[in-house]
Amino acid sequence: MSEKSPCILIAGGAGYIGSHAVLDLKSSGYQPVIVDNFSRGNKDIAELTGAECEEGELSDCAFLKKVIKKYNPDAVMHFAAWTYVGESVSQPERYYNNNVVATLNLLSTMRELGVGKFIFSSTAATYGLPEAIPIPEDAVQAPINPYGSSKLMVERILSDFNAAYGLQYTIFRYFNAAGASSNALIGERHDPETHLIPLALSAAAKGTPFKVFGTDYPTQDGTCIRDYVHVDDIARAHVLGLQRLEAGEEKGIYNIGTGSGYSVLEVINTIEKVTGLKVPYEVADRRAGDPPELIAKAERISKDLKWHARHSGLEEIISTAWAWHRKDWDLT
Ligand code: UDP
Repeated sequence: MSEKSPCILIAGGAGYIGSHAVLDLKSSGYQPVIVDNFSRGNKDIAELTGAECEEGELSDCAFLKKVIKKYNPDAVMHFAAWTYVGESVSQPERYYNNNVVATLNLLSTMRELGVGKFIFSSTAATYGLPEAIPIPEDAVQAPINPYGSSKLMVERILSDFNAAYGLQYTIFRYFNAAGASSNALIGERHDPETHLIPLALSAAAKGTPFKVFGTDYPTQDGTCIRDYVHVDDIARAHVLGLQRLEAGEEKGIYNIGTGSGYSVLEVINTIEKVTGLKVPYEVADRRAGDPPELIAKAERISKDLKWHARHSGLEEIISTAWAWHRKDWDLT
């Protein structure tokens, strides 16, 4: 590594996954710079990472040019997006603007100023209703909601930018990000919170109502199955992806998953085991747009990037999430 640490811009670095990537980049010898509008990212979490922050909009070309000229980054990691499936159905215009138009603006500005490496947060939602489980990267991509469509559109843009302009890129298709940094420094905080693990922990700790969305799925206990990956493992994948681009890879598309799945009831049982508390819940209707089972085929990432899930056992995921939430919720 050169004497000066390579600078990496982290769009959405104040968000859940972006902030964990910032920490890993720092400890791997990079200089991450957070770019965030703090609309859904958390300023206090960004500050806890100790990285420099630039506040602004990805849709603002003048702002982006100023930031890129100031730091001269080697690469951009792009975590900034809206990620709620239900909201994307009711507000598609905002999703396409935020997730596609702003990203295109970022890519155009990078091209104009000669930044040639891009790491993009995509999603298992681009697969829609998968034909087979586990899902390989070359499965049909037929998203069933505007959120998944918006991510797929950017995947296509990246492929075209690579072919026409030589942009080097890595696409990561996330399965279910969960957990928190091992020292409980940073963790998951969404507003509104819609995710299973924080909501079920909150039900256990604070008695907030928890609903199991559907118990009539064609799975062993009737609840949906997901592939949960520790956020630190996801962060690690990004650093490995970056290093592969630095070594000259043109483009890469990788699932980030473990290859194993857990049902909603299995997650609840593990939460009860880890916390020693009961998770009070009621059974509710299915949530629109939830496929019964999403599990990654995770061989490509382990073969090409030498990535392995090291912290993604369900108990470790839940105990790190629990340690963080106790701190964040001020529980003794
Ligand atoms: N889920 C649930 N109750 C909730 C939130 C989520 O039963 O309050 C279920 C949801 O239907 C899905 C799983 O938990 O099967 C994981 O949902 P989450 O929102 O955490 O992630 P997603 O799979 O939507 O990315």
